[in-house]
Amino acid sequence: MLKPNVNYRNLKDSYLFFGISKKVEAYRKAHPDLPLYRLGIGDVSRPLCDAAIQAMHDAVEDQSRAETFHGYVPECGIPEYRKAVAGYYACRGVQLDPEEVFVSSGASDELGDILDLFDKSADALVTQPAYPAYVDASIMAGRKVSFLTAGPDNDFLPLPGKDTQADLLYLCSPNNPTGAVYSREQLQQWVDFANSRGAVILFDAAYEAFIEGDLPHSIFEIPGAETCAIEICSLSKTAGFTGTRLGYTVIPKALERDGMNLNAMWVRNRTTKTNGISYILQKGGIAVFTDEGLRQIRENIQYYKRNARVLMAALDKAGIRYWGGKNAPYIWMACPEGVKSWDFFDRLLNEIQIIGTPGEGFGACGEGFFRLSSFGDAKDTEIAAERLQELLLRK
Ligand code: PLP
Repeated sequence: MLKPNVNYRNLKDSYLFFGISKKVEAYRKAHPDLPLYRLGIGDVSRPLCDAAIQAMHDAVEDQSRAETFHGYVPECGIPEYRKAVAGYYACRGVQLDPEEVFVSSGASDELGDILDLFDKSADALVTQPAYPAYVDASIMAGRKVSFLTAGPDNDFLPLPGKDTQADLLYLCSPNNPTGAVYSREQLQQWVDFANSRGAVILFDAAYEAFIEGDLPHSIFEIPGAETCAIEICSLSKTAGFTGTRLGYTVIPKALERDGMNLNAMWVRNRTTKTNGISYILQKGGIAVFTDEGLRQIRENIQYYKRNARVLMAALDKAGIRYWGGKNAPYIWMACPEGVKSWDFFDRLLNEIQIIGTPGEGFGACGEGFFRLSSFGDAKDTEIAAERLQELLLRK
């Protein structure tokens, strides 16, 4: 009899967002007239920028005429898109050959697909609290997963120690859910660790566009990363493409293991397993990386950052400790003394109609913490911040 992939038996139920939606639904049924304030979502709320919309309209027009029509486009990305992404990196001093950039339909897809490049015996190390896909994709692929936990003592930025073991290493900076960002010196420690052991870093840069000041947006700003890292990024949070779906993955040509070139292997993988990403979407992506597109997406990011500042001001006034918010759309707050994260969730929902995300859902070390998102509507965020401050100050 055919045997299914039994690794799926090792997956834990993904209770986090399911659990939240069940509780919210029950509350809404019981209190249909009360407004709810959503600070739990990891999805954007601002529409796509005009530059991307116009470019996609034009691309649809292209598809309507024989002389401009495109059938299949190159699997690894249309050259103009690969060049546009390379140009975006060049502005930060990272020189990429456009052939080191691969188009994707978003970071989630790539986080799982990229595991095809590595032998089943390669174990994964995940820093936690973490975006749940790293663990689940590794388990589905039959890999052993171990954890490096983060907490207030290391400001949620764990570093390699003398006992750290990893073949594949997931790093996410700015981090979801904590909003913590590694400095250059800290990332250098991870790059040196990976190079010294022949490990490969899978660097998730999904929130790089939220970074302010002199912090690295890309692992490739760190010397030595070209021989030990793959960067996975997307336009989801950079440019609001969560429902439109477009991303990119950077695999340096210098990245080799056991005499095999990972960039060449990924070309082979994509040309076998995909037929490319929509011409229309890639045209939208190219427009995002023009000067005007970048100006427009930064306006949207500033909208979310204003929300984050409103929430942080409320927490400051309430004397609550938190991380993130400045270089990330997420604020990772400590629950009031001794309160568990799901209990805090219930309290916020039932008493002030705010929906947040319990930290425990991002790994056991997230217990006692709570994630607030700045991706919501500005007016709702202001009302929610006032309510939150009042509740936290209540004796
Ligand atoms: N990586 C992190 C850390 C995320 O938080 C998310 C989405 O929330 C993703 C990847 C997935 O992004 P995409 O929409 O590109 O699949």
